[in-house]
Amino acid sequence: MHGQGLFQALIRNTPSPFISLPRNWNDKSGILLSGDMFIRRLFTGTRTTLPGQTLNPRQWDRPPYFQFPKLAAHYDRLDHAVFTRHGGTSTQPWDSLNTGHTTGDQARHIKYNLDIIQKRLGAKHLVSMNQVHGQDILVVRRGCIPLPESIVDGDAMITDVPDIALLIKQADCQGIIIFDPIKEVVACIHCGWRGNVCNILDSVIKRMKSEFGSSPGDLLAGIGPSLGPCCAEFVTHEEIFPAKFKRFMTQKLHFDLWETSRAQLLKTGMKNKNIEIASICTKCNTGVFYSYRGEGETGRFATVAMLKKR
Ligand SMILES: [Zn+2]
Repeated sequence: MHGQGLFQALIRNTPSPFISLPRNWNDKSGILLSGDMFIRRLFTGTRTTLPGQTLNPRQWDRPPYFQFPKLAAHYDRLDHAVFTRHGGTSTQPWDSLNTGHTTGDQARHIKYNLDIIQKRLGAKHLVSMNQVHGQDILVVRRGCIPLPESIVDGDAMITDVPDIALLIKQADCQGIIIFDPIKEVVACIHCGWRGNVCNILDSVIKRMKSEFGSSPGDLLAGIGPSLGPCCAEFVTHEEIFPAKFKRFMTQKLHFDLWETSRAQLLKTGMKNKNIEIASICTKCNTGVFYSYRGEGETGRFATVAMLKKR
């Protein structure tokens, strides 16, 4: 483990290159800001200025992260964060809070970044999976917490154990948090278009019902920054999508996968008022998030959810 001193040093030594503001950034100054200034600006006020977004930025520490307001209202029992690409140790093109092991980035940088995230949340354990765009689900039970070296294939994690942070890595795919405030169970899901096709959201909610007695009407969900309808172009959609996805087509070859996920959640019995969508497109905002489609070789940002001890 690395001590506080090393963390501080690492963070201080992280280069702060000038970064261009994301497209659509609603900042009147319109100038380039340094990394540090960017982070401070990101934290000014209670909402960011990203258009159409529904997340609240939180100020008091690095690295910066966003929260879903309705999930954040349960702060006494749930901690969650959508981290950005800022506040980590990786260098270009993975700068800087990269959590993806398969991106070509140095393993030690990823380990430092995961340590920063774990420390930020105060988590006892950080659990992630080798994401494969399938529908395998890992249920983390008391007494069988997977170690970082025993990482398994899968795209969703569910737990009722406090202080276990479930981490999803993404760069265009959706990171989705589902919280049951009645049974005190949380799920964190990686859902790209393949996840929508195999309806991993339905599988997760069925599992929450069977293993923990969750009722879909009680559940809250947050759908994070990911490829928006502006950029979700699928030239081969007739081969890869079922015909019923046609109703999510917004323009020629473009699909609204946010609404696809919302529809899949509603079908399980969830209430529309309990579903929050960040409405931030990663490809349009590569200054804040990673985008595989927008950048090619790049990192993976983290969506994390953790139950808190009463
Ligand atoms: Zn876009």
